[in-house]
Amino acid sequence: MTRDAKLRWGSIIVIGYIMAAFVWWALLLFKKNHIAFEAQYRAGFYEMLAQGLVENEGQYRQSDLYKMLFTTYRKQMFMIIGEGCVFVLSLILGVWFIHNGYRKEVAAGRQRRNFLLSITHELKSPIAGIQLAVETLLKRDLPREKSLPLLQSSLRETTRLKNLVNDLLLSAKLESAYQLHIEPLNLAELAAGIVEDFRIRYPKAGFEFEAPDELPLFSGDRSGLTSVVQNLVENAVKYSPEPAQVRVALSAQPGALHIEVADSGIGIPDREKSRIFDKFYRIGNEDTRQTKGTGLGLYIVDQIVKAHGGSISVRDHQPAGSVFLILLPLK
Ligand code: ADP
Repeated sequence: MTRDAKLRWGSIIVIGYIMAAFVWWALLLFKKNHIAFEAQYRAGFYEMLAQGLVENEGQYRQSDLYKMLFTTYRKQMFMIIGEGCVFVLSLILGVWFIHNGYRKEVAAGRQRRNFLLSITHELKSPIAGIQLAVETLLKRDLPREKSLPLLQSSLRETTRLKNLVNDLLLSAKLESAYQLHIEPLNLAELAAGIVEDFRIRYPKAGFEFEAPDELPLFSGDRSGLTSVVQNLVENAVKYSPEPAQVRVALSAQPGALHIEVADSGIGIPDREKSRIFDKFYRIGNEDTRQTKGTGLGLYIVDQIVKAHGGSISVRDHQPAGSVFLILLPLK
């Protein structure tokens, strides 16, 4: 039995015992209350009978003494029921809080483990790639056409390392003191430049870009918004079978700018849609997952969009894939 299962069964047994003991005590209290009432009832009846105040039980039940005894008895019954309900409710609430806290703790532990595993993968493979390229170049005197691919792949790996470190730094800054450097931006130009970079990086993928000629300028943080579009396009490529088909579209709506990044990739299940923006969250398990990543990208995207007063949402793309939509309010 796993530690979790043992804990679950342990708590079920303890809670079951508490409930059973509680029911037993409640029944006993009911019984005792009833016995006490019966005794007082009899004593009162015989006393009134002896004093000649009543002649039978029928008359006794009309007397003030009986009414007082019965009211006290009923009050005590309601008290037992009321207190019982409060007790059961507190117990349920307590168990719920503990269970929730425990579940969050387990999820946080899983995320930490996933993060460590993914960051190790992420660091190891570019370093190994660069090392191999440099060793080859050192050992052999290669002609330019043979050394060029090695240098290009080293440069790609170095870019990956740089992006990873940037993401880590940015996510740390977002938690403490991220300062937006607001300036008027032409988002169409910015996004078009990013799409061009991706065309060079992924020559096999298909990129579509759409923006109206007259998009209003947006007051925003250049490096933050660059990171937003880069992360979304990177994911669109990463989570699509080759060759990826990605569409980036900008449009101006009354009071807001829309940025849409759509792909025809593997898509995101509905139950995961709200969780993918959490820090370090990645769908699936690190041991079985094929794609590389840290689970920081969408967290950064979400935080930066929010810092601009905007919002991000995700929906399914037909027939396959996902569409991320960002709304940035125009001030
Ligand atoms: P990373 O890509 O480093 O894992 P992200 O924060 O960028 O982290 O994304 C979180 C998770 O959301 C990813 O692990 C992936 O499972 C899912 N995801 C993000 N973008 C897409 C996409 N375009 N299509 C399918 N799944 C996606």
